[in-house]
Amino acid sequence: MQVYKFGGASVRSAEGIRNIARIVSGQNDSLFIVVSAMGKTTNALEVVLDAFMKADRKTSIQKLAEVETYHHDIISELFVNPEVGRKAVQPLFDELKNYINKGVGDDYDRWYDHLVSYGELISTKIVSTYLSESGIENSWLDMRRLLVTDSNFREANVRMDESQVRLYKAADFNQHRIYIGQGFIGANIKGDPTTLGREGSDYSAAVVGNLLNAESVTIWKDVPGILNADPRIFENTVHIPELTYLDAVELAYSGAQIIHPKTIKPLENKNIPLYVRPFGSPSEAGSVIKATTAKPIDVPVLILRKNQVLVTVRPRDFSFVLEESLSKAFTVMNKHRLKVTMIQSSAISISVCVDNSRYLAGALDELGNDFKVTYNDALELLTIRGISDEIVLKTTFGRTILLTQRTRRTGRFLMKEI
Ligand code: ASP
Ligand code: MG
Repeated sequence: MQVYKFGGASVRSAEGIRNIARIVSGQNDSLFIVVSAMGKTTNALEVVLDAFMKADRKTSIQKLAEVETYHHDIISELFVNPEVGRKAVQPLFDELKNYINKGVGDDYDRWYDHLVSYGELISTKIVSTYLSESGIENSWLDMRRLLVTDSNFREANVRMDESQVRLYKAADFNQHRIYIGQGFIGANIKGDPTTLGREGSDYSAAVVGNLLNAESVTIWKDVPGILNADPRIFENTVHIPELTYLDAVELAYSGAQIIHPKTIKPLENKNIPLYVRPFGSPSEAGSVIKATTAKPIDVPVLILRKNQVLVTVRPRDFSFVLEESLSKAFTVMNKHRLKVTMIQSSAISISVCVDNSRYLAGALDELGNDFKVTYNDALELLTIRGISDEIVLKTTFGRTILLTQRTRRTGRFLMKEI
């Protein structure tokens, strides 16, 4: 049994969904298909939510109507009989409208998961119904009933044991050869919907692979596989056919947007290979991530993580007990969900680089109780694995660098955006 994951870019158009049908019909094995929301639907639903939270009903209804039109347009182009597709998604749009008409949300993170999770429910309904119309028998599953998570809304973690019992029962490959479920979503033990963090569908696919003991997990993406750098930013990129789990974790942590950082652990734990394959040319091999590879990566790997903030904190009472302040500062940052990407400490101060997010202001505020806080924003963090003076010169020449860290093979440069 294999797991296939199709991301938002793969399902952003009728042509993309037809391509899924082509890829799936070339496969005779049992399949669990994980699908993300179509195109930029998650962003669009975030806009609906923001208006909802501000009790701006008119805007939220109008923005939701745009989301509905986008999906209806795809359905009209895709289906021989569009009425079948429209009927499949109608109850979901009705539920969304009901929420909005009912009134005002209070807890932002909880409402986020309630509403934004519909992106994946809608996309999977369309894909499943289309595959059926095309003669590819399949069964649609609601992952809110199958993936049990903690209640960390918007960034939930899957509870593997509880989920396994449910998923095993639901995905019975003696009943159906193909199951289709949503990426990105689950529910806590009480049944309140949760989401697993932006771009979390990869993580869902890895969890499903782990729980169902898949032979492999394949992420179909609009790239030729894993490259040594993002071709939109760097020139002369090269393809890396094989990586170890460890390579992949390091890349994801440094900000390579190829896979979600949480994806690797569930696969590594069961030694399941992860394929990253080009959606547009399914006959090409792409890249594979697994326990061991024939040879180490022999090209420098460049990763640029944008939208970084450098925060420096110094205890107000000038205390030199670094350990104590370290743990205090990290407790606050953790509580406010800051994602720390680099750490540097001196005798009395700690500097951390974090992703800029809506949580930052609250964290800085609370840190201000015990620390003198300074920060710089509009930064980007360049990580170079397989470092040489030549490549450093090439990538950082003329740039304003605020912080550098260098170990044997890796260099990290925190620079002002240009
Ligand atoms: N739809 C979600 C997002 O855009 C999850 C995903 O695409 O992986 O963040
Ligand atoms: Mg996406």
